[in-house]
Amino acid sequence: MTAGPPGSPPGSASPDVLEVRNPATGEVIDTVAATAPTGVAAVVERARTAQHHWAALGVDDRLGVVARFRELVAAEAAELAGVLTAETGKPITQAEAELSAVLGRIDFFVGHTAGVLAEQAVGDDGTTEERIAREPLGVVANISAWNYPWFVGTNVFVPALAVGNAVAYKPSEYATLTGMAMGRLWDAAGLPAGLFTVVTGGGDTGAALVDAAVDAVAFTGSYATGRRIAETVASRMLPVQLELGGKDPVYVADDVDVATAAAAVADGAFYNNGQSCCSVERIYVHERIHDEFVEAFIAAVGAMTMGDPTDPDTYLGPLTRPQHAALLTNQVADAVAGGATVRTGGGVVDPPAGLAGVWFAPTVLTGAHNGLAIMRDESFGPVIGIAPVAGDDEALVAMNDTEFGLTAGVFTTSEERARRVLAGVDAGSAYWNCCDRVSPRLPWSGRRNSGMGLTLSTEGITAFTRPKAYHLRRG
Ligand code: NAD
Repeated sequence: MTAGPPGSPPGSASPDVLEVRNPATGEVIDTVAATAPTGVAAVVERARTAQHHWAALGVDDRLGVVARFRELVAAEAAELAGVLTAETGKPITQAEAELSAVLGRIDFFVGHTAGVLAEQAVGDDGTTEERIAREPLGVVANISAWNYPWFVGTNVFVPALAVGNAVAYKPSEYATLTGMAMGRLWDAAGLPAGLFTVVTGGGDTGAALVDAAVDAVAFTGSYATGRRIAETVASRMLPVQLELGGKDPVYVADDVDVATAAAAVADGAFYNNGQSCCSVERIYVHERIHDEFVEAFIAAVGAMTMGDPTDPDTYLGPLTRPQHAALLTNQVADAVAGGATVRTGGGVVDPPAGLAGVWFAPTVLTGAHNGLAIMRDESFGPVIGIAPVAGDDEALVAMNDTEFGLTAGVFTTSEERARRVLAGVDAGSAYWNCCDRVSPRLPWSGRRNSGMGLTLSTEGITAFTRPKAYHLRRG
């Protein structure tokens, strides 16, 4: 058994261990001490003490530590990508891309935190000056997901720390080694002890963290868990941020270059095996180009290489969570029973030679409609339904016919046409001729069952502060 997570208070680890399994081989690649739910309170207590000193430091001192963390991530990016691939099955080029892009996100936070924290003078009538200051929240519980652990982790803990909070970070049990590496790198960057503690474990540990005396909860994960967390903290009036799932639609209009649009949308649907909150999950295609689009789309999917995630030529790896195959299989069966046709793929396939785990063929269904589970419930895997629509108005109605509201995209050569549809979509992010895209400069937010609150952009820094209103009367 390896040692407890970096930053753990001594004695907090229970005899319980987490087995870290490589989803592409089925092998146990590490065993990690799980933080006992009973040890979580001590983590939070220690974080609170550390946070007072940290908040009292100047922002430049704090950003110096963040910048050192960024340099350490950059220096170890290749090894960290290898760890991510080993524990999630993410193809190595996609893991490397995540590590590379996360540096830009950290740079954004480093560049904008001081501006967000600058006190604002908003009024002065000659006797009374009015100013707004921003203060940290305190101890932030950061419960995270496995599909993009570097992205969704840093979206929260970098700005949270930079503005003066402490963070108790619970990585997903499917990305524990990555979470522990983050803790080690914060220690190496000189972050004072207690400010970023990795709490390892599954749902029980996450629930214990939510129950502990934290000041805010930032959660990334499924709607079901997010809702449970929101209900748990409601009576304590805690600020809560929920970055949840999606059923993200794309509409392909009849004026596009079909091959180009099909390739872009296929990438949006199957990158990271479709295990992205903003993966394309539903496709509506103008009936005039529908058949041509489907042929081009299937050709693009057929060119995707499924194989060993450590091979740079691999585009599709195994399912990170083997048990998820059941949900995907049920969605395909429901779709077929409801009149859809499997055009390629359709279910679990044998692992590539020499590998194990659960592999799901990239699956394309046509004749889909919004009555099917595959067009209503999050798939979070390599399956997609395509439905024809008569025009922009019908597409817009179909896109908004969902409980989710994370992203929506339109492919058309006309900006005016795209703008008209996108103005009507009820989603936090709107894409023209692109999809499955996140930018540090833009707020990342979901509507309805896709969540509440936001990360990224300067608003995503402000989100980890609370205002103090100063009324300053001179004599
Ligand atoms: P999940 O809800 O199963 O788990 C998320 C985290 O919550 C894990 O760390 C888990 O251990 C913890 N957890 C489980 N039960 C808990 C409880 N009762 N109390 C507290 N914590 C608990 O989700 P997942 O499988 O890790 O992630 C996939 C989901 O995340 C998908 O729905 C995906 O769309 C969503 N996601 C959203 C975003 C976004 O930015 N909107 C980003 C990535 C993933």
